[in-house]
Amino acid sequence: MRQRPYNFSAGPAAMPEAVLQQAAAEMLDWHGSGMSVMEMSHRGKEFVSICEQAEADLRELLAVPPTFKILFMQGGGLAENAIVPMNLAARKPARLMDFIVTGAWSQKSAQEARKYGDATVAASGADTGFTTIPAPATWPLRDGLSYVHLCSNETIHGVEFHELPDLQALGCDAPLVIDFSSHVLSRPVDWSRVGLAFGGAQKNIGPAGVTLVVVREDLLGHALPVCPSAFDYRTVAEHASMYNTPPTYGIYMAGLTFQWLKAQREGALSGVAAMEARNLAKARLLYDCIDGSQLYVNRVDPACRSRMNIPFQLREERLNDAFLAQARAHGLLQLKGHKSVGGMRASLYNAMPLEGVQALVEFMRDFERHHA
Ligand code: PMP
Repeated sequence: MRQRPYNFSAGPAAMPEAVLQQAAAEMLDWHGSGMSVMEMSHRGKEFVSICEQAEADLRELLAVPPTFKILFMQGGGLAENAIVPMNLAARKPARLMDFIVTGAWSQKSAQEARKYGDATVAASGADTGFTTIPAPATWPLRDGLSYVHLCSNETIHGVEFHELPDLQALGCDAPLVIDFSSHVLSRPVDWSRVGLAFGGAQKNIGPAGVTLVVVREDLLGHALPVCPSAFDYRTVAEHASMYNTPPTYGIYMAGLTFQWLKAQREGALSGVAAMEARNLAKARLLYDCIDGSQLYVNRVDPACRSRMNIPFQLREERLNDAFLAQARAHGLLQLKGHKSVGGMRASLYNAMPLEGVQALVEFMRDFERHHA
């Protein structure tokens, strides 16, 4: 088969080719069942086994403690911006929620939560154009919070928390909610610092349609009366993600990705640790290229640069169209930056091999040479 181009989309994004091939091979007949996974009852033994395996593999990959539930839901990250406050705001009668805004996605989360309680931006990177993360020690967190929210990787602004804040050490006993949509499974998660994590699948897990929620059990059971039953985490947990029909095919594809991840090796490392080593090497290669050039620039503070989503500008904007057209001709797809920041963005999720980043860097250096 001809080699496929390298796809740098921010999401829906490239998937491991081996996963796509396995799905193609199993499309008409899953494991001798005579059915496509799409055609199975979600309550039948075949699909229940697929779902249970996916959950177990994810728990192993991310080392999710037994005190947390793993839920496969629908609605994506934006729906979670409402579903989280509908489930957690009423943990405390005052419904206070503090938000750390480090880019477009946490900003949207804060706005949506205002419908359900007193959502306040405690700290923001807006005054630096979202190129920095305000130091946790300076966050003026309020007393009596229902929760604190942050986006641990900002897909548009390319800002990532390389360490999650320890709220307890900051004198705050509220649970931390993280939106980890765009770097889930790219690195381990310190669950001792997290109460709830959510993310859409369409970047590092599988096709759009599955929303992953990992929630500490003691946070269940606080849903507001207005919360739809299908979005009440306790109800979803009690029914093992089958209260309503889950996104069955997406869960199956996620499961194939989890198996692929478990098989990945990098030296002595495996699974998510192997991916983290690979992701570090990929990101370093591209940032070094950008920082060493006269043409490209990334303005994010190196202390919080994302390993997954790397936005960069061409100092000569008139070259943008030529850059994109020539990149496409070189088999480098979907590099156009988000419209709110312009320029370019390369997303280097788990499915992007090092060779893809090498090809991108080589192209960027050539392009610069020809336009110097
Ligand atoms: N959060 C983050 C960090 C995202 O990157 C995105 C999508 N790009 C969303 C939330 C929204 O996800 P969805 O479109 O699935 O609602």
